[in-house]
Amino acid sequence: MAKYSKNIYEQMVLAAKKAYPNECCGILVGKKSEQSETEVTEIREAENQFQGQKAVHFKIDPLYLYHLEQELDPRGLEIVGIYHSHPDCPAILSKEDEKYMVPGLEYVIMSVQNGEVVDVKSYKKAMPPLNRNN
Ligand SMILES: [Zn+2]
Repeated sequence: MAKYSKNIYEQMVLAAKKAYPNECCGILVGKKSEQSETEVTEIREAENQFQGQKAVHFKIDPLYLYHLEQELDPRGLEIVGIYHSHPDCPAILSKEDEKYMVPGLEYVIMSVQNGEVVDVKSYKKAMPPLNRNN
């Protein structure tokens, strides 16, 4: 579980409420550490670029991520995770979520029922071992 302040948490909750009944999505920005937990220092709302049912899926523009990384790098910050909401669904990973999860990134899912955030959960896929045989 990543560490984030109450302020960051409230910003995510607000984004989820605002997007309801659609899914919100955004980026967790911070510092990764081998020794301790990932620290989230700010969040960036991203546009849900998914063409179609925005209530059940989200997509973030890869170009947006590219430009964000360019901006963060000189500040010693990086993309450490992604948050999104599940309108009227539990805060568990969907099949799609699992399929597109990037190892090492933190995934925060918020369950929104009737416009209120009722549950927040965080997931992370382990890094695959490096293949040094080639
Ligand atoms: Zn999802």
